[in-house]
Amino acid sequence: MQIADRPSPNFDARPGNAHVDMLILHYTGMRTAREALDRLCDPAAKVGAHYLIDEDGTVTRLVAEEKRAWHAGISSWRGRRDINGASIGIELVNPGHEFGYRHFPGPQMAALEALAKGILGRHPIPPRHVVGHSDVAPLRKQDPGEFFDWPRLARAGIGFWPNFTRGTAANPLGLRETQSSLAAIGYFCPESGALDAATTAAILAFQRHFRPERCDGVLDTETGRRIALCAQGIA
Ligand SMILES: [Zn+2]
Repeated sequence: MQIADRPSPNFDARPGNAHVDMLILHYTGMRTAREALDRLCDPAAKVGAHYLIDEDGTVTRLVAEEKRAWHAGISSWRGRRDINGASIGIELVNPGHEFGYRHFPGPQMAALEALAKGILGRHPIPPRHVVGHSDVAPLRKQDPGEFFDWPRLARAGIGFWPNFTRGTAANPLGLRETQSSLAAIGYFCPESGALDAATTAAILAFQRHFRPERCDGVLDTETGRRIALCAQGIA
C-alpha cells in the first residue's frame, strides 16, 4: 500500500525492551484532516500517532513503529498503564462527537484493514489487544465511537468479536461479577460492588465497542449478556 510520510516530533523511545503488542484505534475529532495533521505534528500539542487514515483511504505515517507515539495519554488495559509504550496508534479522520460524528467510509475502512494486517504481521498483537481509545480511557474518551465497524474488522482477522448469538437470553451476572468480567476483558473497573463512576464509564465504553446499538452506560440484560460472553471468550 502507498504511505505518505509527514514526520511528527511527538514521540520518544519505547521504554526498555518493550515490544509492541497492542493496536489502539482513534478518531481525530477535528473538523478537517488538515487540521488534525497539523495538530499531530505540532510540538506544542504533544500528541502524535503512528498513522493517520483520511476518509478517502490516504494513509500518512507520522511516527516510525519502533518509536513511542503519544496517542493514548492516561490509560489502562488489563492492568497495564504505559499503553503508548507497547502500542501502535492509528488515527482515523472523523469530526467525532463534537463536530458531527459520522460513519467511517468504505475506502477508509479498507485502508485500515490493509494497514492493520501489515502491523499484525510485524508485531505479535493478540486479538483482544486491538481496541479503541475509549476502551483504554473510558472516563475520558469516546473514540473511535459507536459508528466504528469492529465486526467488519474481526471478519478480516483483526481484533476480537465473540459470537453473541450463543448463550442464554438472560444476563447471568450480578454487579460484582459484571465488574470482574469487565476487568478480565481489560477495562479499568475496580470490583467495588457499587455502580460507581468507573463502572458506569466501563459499561459505556464496552457498549461503544461491543453493543453499539445502545450507548447509555446502563447495564441492561443484553449488555450484561455480552459482557459475560466476552469474558468467556477470552478465558
Ligand atoms: Zn483518541
